This record gives sequence, C-alpha cells and structure tokens, in this order.
Amino acid sequence: MPQTIIVSNRLPTKVQRTDDSLSFQPSEGGLATGLGSIYRQEGNMWVGWPGLFVQDEAEEQYVTEQLSADSMAPVFLTEAEIRDFYEGFSNSTLWPTFHYFTQFATYEQTHWDAYVAVNEKFCAAVLAHAGPEDTIWVHDYQLLLLPEMLRRARPEATIGFFLHIPFPSYELIRVLPWRSELLRGMLGADLIGFHTFGYMRHFLSAVSQVLGLPAQNGQIEVEQRAVRVDAFPMGIDYDRYAAAADSDAARQHEAAYREVLRDTRVILSIDRLDYTKGIAQRLRAFELLLARYPEWREQVSLIMLVVPSRDQVAQYASLKEEIDELVGRINAQFRTITWTPIHYFYRSLPLEELASLYRLAEVALVTPMRDGMNLVAKEFIASKADQRGVLILSERAGAARELSDALIINPTDTNQLTEAMHDALVMPEEEQRQRMTAMQALVRRYNVFSWTRLFLNQLTYTKMKQQTLA
Ligand code: UDP
Repeated sequence: MPQTIIVSNRLPTKVQRTDDSLSFQPSEGGLATGLGSIYRQEGNMWVGWPGLFVQDEAEEQYVTEQLSADSMAPVFLTEAEIRDFYEGFSNSTLWPTFHYFTQFATYEQTHWDAYVAVNEKFCAAVLAHAGPEDTIWVHDYQLLLLPEMLRRARPEATIGFFLHIPFPSYELIRVLPWRSELLRGMLGADLIGFHTFGYMRHFLSAVSQVLGLPAQNGQIEVEQRAVRVDAFPMGIDYDRYAAAADSDAARQHEAAYREVLRDTRVILSIDRLDYTKGIAQRLRAFELLLARYPEWREQVSLIMLVVPSRDQVAQYASLKEEIDELVGRINAQFRTITWTPIHYFYRSLPLEELASLYRLAEVALVTPMRDGMNLVAKEFIASKADQRGVLILSERAGAARELSDALIINPTDTNQLTEAMHDALVMPEEEQRQRMTAMQALVRRYNVFSWTRLFLNQLTYTKMKQQTLA
C-alpha cells in the first residue's frame, strides 16, 4: 500500500525555544485538523518547516527525532531563507499579487532565487521519504514549484496540489516575471485544487494564455500527461467549533463579558492583521453607522480582534498604525462614560475565548477585500446553536460562493456595508433562523474531513484514469 506524504510550508507542530529548552506545540490550524487523521496513519508523514532556527547539528538531530516519533519530517530553513523565500517571495510577491494588491508586490531576483532553492530543499526532503509510487499532497503558495520538481524525480508518483489562497485573473499573473515557471511548477501535479470554480477558471485561462496549453473539461494535457483541475471548497471541523461554543468555559467567558456589556448588542470582527481583510474599511462603515443611525449609539458595540501577523513586512506595520488611529478616533468621537463603541484587541485568543465571542455576537462582519476561503465565517455559523445571528460576508471571500444565505456585500462599498449592519440589527428572528439553518446544514456537511476525502479520492481516480488511458 503506497504511503501518503503531506507537504506544507509549516508542520502541524510548532517548535519553540524557551530559555534553554525546546517546546513542541500542536498547531490548531484547519489544515492540521483536517489532515491529522491521515498523516499519523502507519507509513504516512508530514514534511514541513518546524518554525525554529536550529543552533547546531545536535539540536537538528534532536528535533528530527522528536518529530519523527509523531510522523513528521522537518525541513530546516535558515534566517536568510525565511527572509528571502518566506517574507520575500512568498509574502511580498505572491501574496499581494494573488490577492490583487500589486501595488504592494516586489519583484526581487534574490527572493526568487531563494524561492527556487527552498522549493528544491523541500523536494529533497520529500524524496528522502517517498517511494516511487507514493501519493504526495503539496499545499499552498509557498511551494508552487514543488510539484514539477517532484515529477521530474518521481515520474510515476501520484501528486496533488491545493492552493489555499485565491488564484487571480490572468492580468495579475502576467505581471510576474516568473509566471511561466510558476505555472509549470504547479502543472507537475496530477490534480490541482482550488477553493472555488472562479479561481480554477482563472488558472485555466492563465495556463492557456501564458503557456499556450488549452484545457478541455477541466483537464490540461502536459507532456502526454492529463492534469486535472477542480474546485474543493475547504471546510472546518464543525463539531469541534460547535462543542467549543457549547462548553462550560465558553459560557463562563460569555457571562463575564455580558456582565460588563450589560444589554449592549455585539457586532464581531476577527482577522489576522492583513491588508487583504478590509479592516480599515470595516471601521469606516461602523463609524458611518453611528453617524447615520444615532439610535444605535450606546446600543451596539463592535468587538474587534486583530491577530498579530507578519509584522516584519512594512505594509503590515503601517496597517496596524492605521487601525490604531481609526479606532482611537471613532472611540474618542462617540464614546460615553458607560459605553465604548469599539472594543479592540490586538492579540490571539485560545479557542474557548474565541468561541465565547462567537456566542456573544449577533452579527459577524467578515468583509475581506480578497480571501481564498475565510474560515472565521464558517466557525461563527458552527457556533450558533440557537440559529440566531447574522453573517455579513464579502462577495470576494471564497466562502461567499457557498454561503449565499449571508448578507453578501461589496467591501469597498461603505454605504452598502453600513446598511447591511443596520439590516442585520433589525432582522426578524425568524429570518435569522432560516438563513442560519441553511448555512449550518452546508457547513456541517462539507466539513474539513469531507474536503480531505473528496480531494484524495479525486486524486486516486485521476491517477487511475491516466493509467488506463496510457
Ligand atoms: N484564530 C485563532 N486565534 C485567534 C483568532 C483566530 O486561532 O485569536 C483562527 C480562526 O479560528 C481561524 C483562523 O485563525 O481558524 C483564520 O483563518 P481564516 O481562513 O479566516 O483566515 P487566514 O488567517 O487563514 O487568512
């Protein structure tokens, strides 16, 4: 039985240095949950960066041994590699380009060189563990070149690739000096997955226009190999979020917050600090709500959690300043002795506290400028056991393709966003329940486990079809 190897930039375990010892902490991301049951099975493994700069060979060996006991194989990266490959090419070239923020994109040859070198490093690490017929599932934009590198070394391997961020229009892709190499890199896979059909169509169009390879029925012919392209919207571990929201800990946190907030109604906003998330636009819309509808003053508060992220990249630091300033201005303008318009937190919270915020909120504001999927939207839905609550969702989040019962808005249209907040606050309970029930059925059914299953089954099927046609 061939084994399955998962490859992503980060391992599902984070190794951290604390004084003179190392700690190994599980990462609770959606990917780790979804694939947790797979990589731990006999013979399978996960290859990725453990998040630590090792000091010497002895430490490298120690970390490798510890991780291998839990089916993981580390790829060690240097500080220069993290700077040029990760913060450089991945987060300053690909991230802004794929999210339609070309004004923030840089095009540095040294970053590209590091990107190629690190993808080769990952390739070597995978090859050290992969047999000729193994299944290798590569994840995300940090490893776009890896499928082709693996294909050259293991022509018979079954290789899947999934992109967790949007795939933009050809007009954005054509700006990249390395567009052909990147597309060819992805085409080393047998199956390429995206969150939505829109992203998939953009990819097919880019491949056709940049490489001159036409597609038929979601299939591209690459050197006599049929590459399948399809949409697999990623889900969450529904039961985990529903249980967290129903836990005693979440109820206790909620009760404590309620005591302070009294009967103030809560609008919730949760994101990583990122210019793609539309945080500043959302604040302006909330400001307009208070100005246009004075009746909501002292009645409604915005609880805004921003999780620190990528603070080494310049745009993130200035976005943080912009948010701080906006929150300060709005609070100063509207606050009263007994009411704070915006409760702003710049940190990350443990699951139970997150769950208590999902419980507390009547309205969730998920209004990114661009977002591959957005899991916060789905977690809010899974947390609403009483089916009350309204989701306001950007049309440019991948999740909007599935969650059509949300109030779908254009995040640059401040006016529309403000009106959506007002509509959400006055929406009759019956309508809230109808919308929430429909969305819960969908999010429960298409969860992270079915996502994993669908992708891996399609990959097996694609390979089988290739072999019968050969
Ligand atoms: N999240 C978290 N701690 C926090 C706030 C958020 O772990 O304090 C999680 C949240 O539950 C969600 C993820 O971070 O699972 C964010 O995923 P999403 O797809 O919404 O956006 P991304 O950060 O991947 O762009």
